[in-house]
Amino acid sequence: MKPRPTRKIQIGSLVIGGDSPIAVQSMAATQTQDLEATARQIEILQNAHADVIRIAVDSDKDVEALKTLRKQFPDCVLSVDLQENYKLAPIVAPLVNKIRYNPGHLFHLEKDKTIREKVQFIVDAARANDCAIRIGVNCGSVDPDYKARYPDDSTEAMVRSAVDHCQMLDEMGFENYVVSLKDSDTNQVIDANRRFVKERPDVPLHLGVTEAGLPPEGVIKTRIAFEQLVSEGIGDTIRVSLTLPNEEKGQEIDVGREILKDISEGRFRSVPKNFFDGINIIACPSCSRVENDKFVDLAQDVRKLTEYAAKYKLTIAVMGCRVNGPGETDDADLGLWCGPSRVNLKKGTAELGSYAYDEILGELKKEVDQIIQERFGALEPTGH
Ligand code: SF4
Repeated sequence: MKPRPTRKIQIGSLVIGGDSPIAVQSMAATQTQDLEATARQIEILQNAHADVIRIAVDSDKDVEALKTLRKQFPDCVLSVDLQENYKLAPIVAPLVNKIRYNPGHLFHLEKDKTIREKVQFIVDAARANDCAIRIGVNCGSVDPDYKARYPDDSTEAMVRSAVDHCQMLDEMGFENYVVSLKDSDTNQVIDANRRFVKERPDVPLHLGVTEAGLPPEGVIKTRIAFEQLVSEGIGDTIRVSLTLPNEEKGQEIDVGREILKDISEGRFRSVPKNFFDGINIIACPSCSRVENDKFVDLAQDVRKLTEYAAKYKLTIAVMGCRVNGPGETDDADLGLWCGPSRVNLKKGTAELGSYAYDEILGELKKEVDQIIQERFGALEPTGH
């Protein structure tokens, strides 16, 4: 592995960047206010030796839950995901070691304020409480200004947004930050991180393939990206985003460590040339926004249902919530996102309707069959 030229940053008791070990982290998949379930997630991730554990906070009630969790886990290196509510930064910063904000989300809030003012607000909170910051750019929620500037190059839109936010933090005299550029497409993750490093080799990077989905495919997608990047000296902390039952969330840490160990010992897994040729099921790792526990089962059922169409190149995205589901499924041929009692379905960007959990698979199959007919002619028998 090439040495990493990034500067070191401090996240509570943890140091990442430069020659520090690559930290492995994950996120609680439960609703933060469900204290019992979220405490159990933290326990599971701690038992798996996660270096950082992230919790999402979106409301005052979540903040109250976070206060309780912090008391329960005083030594845990905690990161908070501000999701759409950056105004919570000063209240949560004393409780955590790192704050993640999404530049794309800042665009939509308080339009009378400039992005710089909002960033300054977060930076002030982080500085006053010795927190690190992650500038977390995500393919599904890129700042619309940047999307408009680079209509034919979504990767460049992500990179430019990240580089500009780094510059803002630099100008504010705040250096304790890390950047992530996540996409559900493995190759875009590799491309985005390489482009970013060309401009900012000094900034520590958090790597991840977002919505990698169910194991084993989700592990393979992640492994491909990490093998390429980490072996080039890119990446100071990693997160493996898998769609797993809550009790198995520790697997994200185990898989991350196994990939890093293999890379450091020169064991690279070759991937068949046609790995990306057939059906691609994208699924989110779930988080506090999931409104129905059936989400993971649904993702597994979608994969099972579509086995008959494995050889056809089409992408199906399965997302856990109504907040990010509509946007995160935009690039898929068929998108599903979960509500409390119904699942929404869309084809490309056209919404088809919402269906009960016991109806959705039948509807999905109709749409898969139709796409296969339209694009590939009649469905070929699989021989099973
Ligand atoms: S799609 Fe919704 S539930 Fe899934 S990880 Fe994103 S915010 Fe969480």
